[in-house]
Amino acid sequence: MDMPEQTVTLPQLVVAARRATPEAGAVAGMCVLCQRPMTDGLRVKSVLSGNFTGWNRFYAGDGMCPMCAYLFSDPVFRRRSWVASEAGFRVLGRSEVRVVLLDPPEPPWAVYICRQGHRQGWLAGLHRVNWSRQRYWVMHEDYDLPVAFDQTRARELVQLIDEAFGFGVARRELARGQPGPGTWRRALETGHEHLMRCVEQAARDNALMWEVLVNVTPVPGRAGDEAGGDAGLRVPDGSLAEGAGEESP
Ligand SMILES: [Zn+2]
Repeated sequence: MDMPEQTVTLPQLVVAARRATPEAGAVAGMCVLCQRPMTDGLRVKSVLSGNFTGWNRFYAGDGMCPMCAYLFSDPVFRRRSWVASEAGFRVLGRSEVRVVLLDPPEPPWAVYICRQGHRQGWLAGLHRVNWSRQRYWVMHEDYDLPVAFDQTRARELVQLIDEAFGFGVARRELARGQPGPGTWRRALETGHEHLMRCVEQAARDNALMWEVLVNVTPVPGRAGDEAGGDAGLRVPDGSLAEGAGEESP
């Protein structure tokens, strides 16, 4: 991808990753999303559906550039989790999200985690394309801003998360970093007090990164729980089948 570092917008990355040719218009001026000058923009009303709710992400402008408009042209960007990079665009099944978070593709790259598919959570990451595999942003529907990740730390944390799930800590307790009284009692009885303290500490120290990692981790041994369960990733409807896998460009 021949792109100057730090200036690539998320829509540009996605368009390149999908080898797409976005529909162009004739509106000249400034793009309401990426704030770049354009001569081939589209009217905002022609791009967005009537129930769009992300207006607070918009700036003053004249229309939407073809790149930004492209991310509204396909519901997959809102309804699914995905990763985009030079290697291509890939929809992520529930069990694949964590793999990408721990082993990102070569930069430039971006990842989006969908939970309900209700809003375009990626709007918050328009100018947060990743240029590192060590420190990076993770766009997530549940958070108003992309979550900062550190790969080394993330890999350490998932070991702890797996251990805690293995001990039977519930996802909700684990995400909050507050094992409940029942879990604590069981930990004291079985000599897992240290594990509980580590969980509390890790959740405190790593806040959002911890929460995201807990929610994308499958509970071991629970059939069908591919990082889902009560608080995991959800697909809101069946229109886009789970595990669609590779997107063809
Ligand atoms: Zn734009």
